[in-house]
Amino acid sequence: MKIILIGIQGSGKSTQGNLLQKVLNVPFLATGQIFREMVKEENETAEYIKKIMYAGELIPDEKVLEIVSSYLSRPEYKNGYIIDGFPRTVKQAESFKEDIDAVVYLKVSDTEALRRIAARNDQARKDETTEAIKRRIELFHTETEPVIEYYREKERLVEVDGELQIEEINKAIIKKLKV
Ligand code: AMP
Repeated sequence: MKIILIGIQGSGKSTQGNLLQKVLNVPFLATGQIFREMVKEENETAEYIKKIMYAGELIPDEKVLEIVSSYLSRPEYKNGYIIDGFPRTVKQAESFKEDIDAVVYLKVSDTEALRRIAARNDQARKDETTEAIKRRIELFHTETEPVIEYYREKERLVEVDGELQIEEINKAIIKKLKV
């Protein structure tokens, strides 16, 4: 199965992605995680990506598409995957030619998302400054919400209340995916 997880920062995409990969038996891939690994290297691309990430801006579509395609061409993704953090713009969605089974939208209010982000203390996420978080939430509304509508029109959207308990959300997703 090929699944996209979509939701505002703090909506629980990585928590649900990790749970879901065990049920569906396909790997979980998060673009934010790929870029966090890339910025650890010492080269021009790393510096370029780091600046964008720390400002909470989006990496240009062409670059993202190139990286995502190169990852998805690896043999481990041949039988499917769960992807988090992509597509984040309509341009990315339109250019992504894979036949996706479902786009799971974890619906969480800005207030709840901010509460969760404030509560987590993840040292690996050095790019999560207050300014960057504010900008990411803004960009979710302007750039990523239209992606949700794009998949709704394509009848691929599965909407789940992301404010329930972790286990309940997991059950709701599985039920809606009919797996
Ligand atoms: P995330 O952990 O998904 O919030 O991603 C962290 C950062 O990586 C984002 O703020 C962007 O700078 C970058 N990023 C991740 N995925 C994408 C994407 N699909 N398009 C553009 N930028 C992305």
